[in-house]
Amino acid sequence: MAQKLTLTVSQKIQLTPNIYEVHFQLVDPPTLDFKAGQNMMLMIPASPAGGAPGVNRTMSIASPPSMKSDLVMVHDVSPMGPGSKWTIGLKVGDTATVVAPTGGVLSLLPTEKKKVLIATGTGIAPFRSILFDARYANIVLYWGLRHEEDIYWKAEFDTLAKTQSHFSWHLILSKPTPTWQGEVGHVTEHVLSNEKDLMNSEFYLCGNKAMIEDVRMKLLEQNVPNEQIKSELFF
Ligand SMILES: Cc1cc2nc3c(=O)[nH]c(=O)nc-3n(C[C@H](O)[C@H](O)[C@H](O)COP(=O)(O)OP(=O)(O)OC[C@H]3O[C@@H](n4cnc5c(N)ncnc54)[C@H](O)[C@@H]3O)c2cc1C
Repeated sequence: MAQKLTLTVSQKIQLTPNIYEVHFQLVDPPTLDFKAGQNMMLMIPASPAGGAPGVNRTMSIASPPSMKSDLVMVHDVSPMGPGSKWTIGLKVGDTATVVAPTGGVLSLLPTEKKKVLIATGTGIAPFRSILFDARYANIVLYWGLRHEEDIYWKAEFDTLAKTQSHFSWHLILSKPTPTWQGEVGHVTEHVLSNEKDLMNSEFYLCGNKAMIEDVRMKLLEQNVPNEQIKSELFF
């Protein structure tokens, strides 16, 4: 059940010009039980200088449920609204208040079907929690970013793919430089050309609206049942 938590910032890493990985240590209560793929709601206080009122922003928990006393979020601050400004201003040792766990639509169904995870941008966050949760079977991840400089966590997923035979992944750039040797384009076309057994797969989509609508429409056109497509829209 969702509850109000007090946390402190234990680590803040700038992964790319717009992406921050923030680690929160739980203070009260000292641990949290949640399912991989769930969210937390950041309670962002009003500016002490007056002006902007307090706001809430939803963030996926990017750490696995086994990490009960530390929560990780990955935040794209390019919108530069109140949530982004709050994260940019966070310092190690700061206190934060969140409500968690919330959501859970992306938590994997306990079926034998292949799990196809499809993310754009920080839509990768819930999938990192899922992938570092021990309880997964046959999984493939498709992650779409724009440019080479947007890439982070590649080494983590490469290591996972090397050490776990039932996991593979595709990093796809839509606007790479000519020197990029990897996959190019949009996630939709890569999913459709690589995945041959659509009916025996479940699809978990997370990220921007255009990608989610595009993938869902193409899968439905291929007669994939709607209940085999789960999605979480970030913006
Ligand atoms: C279920 C859920 C989980 C989420 N998890 C994450 C997460 O793990 N990491 C994360 O970075 N964000 C996540 N978000 C988005 C996040 O809650 C905020 O919307 C985002 O950080 C912008 O907040 P803001 O106050 O800076 O800007 P706002 O003032 O709220 O937004 C300004 C505008 O930017 C748009 N926008 C929001 N995010 C983006 C983006 N990434 N790129 C371009 N435009 C955007 C908004 O739709 C709005 O039009 C999640 C959203 C939802 C609904």
